[in-house]
Amino acid sequence: MHLLSTSGKSPAVSFRQAVMAGIAPDGGLYLPAAIPGLDPATIEGFRNLSFQEIGITVARKLLDGEIPDGDLSVIVRNALSFPVPLHCVDDDTAVLELFHGPTLAFKDFGARFMAQVLSYFRGKESQEWTILVATSGDTGSAVAQGFLGAEGIRVVLLYPSGRVSTTQELQLTTIGGNVTALEIDGTFDDCQRLVKSAFADHELSARCRLTSANSINIARLVPQSFYYFEAYARRPDMRRPVVFSVPSGNLGNLTGGILAWKMGLPVARFVAATNVNRVFTDYVETGAFTPRQALPTISNAMDVGNPSNLARIAEIFAGSMEALKAILDSTSVTDDATRETIRRVAGRTGYVLDPHGAVAYAALQRWRAGHASGALGVVLETAHPAKFLDAYDDVLKRSIAVPERLAAVLKKKKRSVKLSSAFKDLQSYLLEEVS
Ligand SMILES: *Cc1c(COP(=O)(O)O)cnc(C)c1O
Repeated sequence: MHLLSTSGKSPAVSFRQAVMAGIAPDGGLYLPAAIPGLDPATIEGFRNLSFQEIGITVARKLLDGEIPDGDLSVIVRNALSFPVPLHCVDDDTAVLELFHGPTLAFKDFGARFMAQVLSYFRGKESQEWTILVATSGDTGSAVAQGFLGAEGIRVVLLYPSGRVSTTQELQLTTIGGNVTALEIDGTFDDCQRLVKSAFADHELSARCRLTSANSINIARLVPQSFYYFEAYARRPDMRRPVVFSVPSGNLGNLTGGILAWKMGLPVARFVAATNVNRVFTDYVETGAFTPRQALPTISNAMDVGNPSNLARIAEIFAGSMEALKAILDSTSVTDDATRETIRRVAGRTGYVLDPHGAVAYAALQRWRAGHASGALGVVLETAHPAKFLDAYDDVLKRSIAVPERLAAVLKKKKRSVKLSSAFKDLQSYLLEEVS
């Protein structure tokens, strides 16, 4: 497998090199130099395979022998250790539930696969590796859960004190084992700055064998293509075209879908659903990319003002807006419309959407109103509603059941190490731990 940078000024690298580097030396994001195709018979045959088997087949095709088949199967099986149900809410709409992983959000797919791949590449090396992650909420716990118990790897999470929800904080601080949560007296931007400074400090970086697990890593993207194939394989009516509606922030989930389509998955259309942070919607409408300050919404994992994967999407379509619009629409949904959608869908079908899935549901309905397609709409449900209980005040009368694995976390005691936002404190903390 050869990968190239979206900035076009770095040499081609292997999958291993791209995973270890995270970001290309020219500041670009890695993408496969050529996206391999699966033949239609293989894709139709997915109907007879399990989700894990589908993932293994797609991963083999993409990685093209770079990880031997036996090892790759183990990686995929360990990463995808939970189901992805396709739940039909009515005749025209199905919800793909991506929240059955350990942290109840779709970030588990990318984080677990990346953790497995990094552990594999570490091999039998004797020096311990430190995975350093700044998190504003959900990503940190997904990454940490992925590495939990991994031999020779410690995970250090940095989160902004008082700026994550109670649920998120408990998910971050109760993992234990090889995972430590640093509670930083500062903002998320401070946490990101600290992580960047640590990587830039070559002595520290070498002594602690610092390794990045950031969201633009290609290993996060690859598994996000698998579940599009899964949804297609489980569609209830083989004759209907399929439209995917994807709740989008940094556009990683959508890029995974586009990758699947490029590999040959018959997708009739993608609807990229944004909340009021509509930078990508504006890009699709006007061709101009104008990053903006993000505004807070009830679908907060999509509050992104400068979506990093836009560079990958632009590259896949070779910058052609015409080619992009031939397969993709985008629409932006307000918080009021999101709440109204949650209420209406629950009232009509009994299904409770989370705020992110509700944005995608509303976007799909809007798209449908303008297109007589006869398609089955598949809404990607990226999180369990119990993660966002605050968003349901005054929206639903009934209470939301909290799944057992989340309830267990909420009963645990928070354990964090408090640090200032000064780099020297992080530095001495990390060095003390290795020596
Ligand atoms: C991260 C996240 C999103 C947005 O996904 P992107 O890949 O960043 O577009 C949507 N919903 C939830 C619940 C998320 O955690």
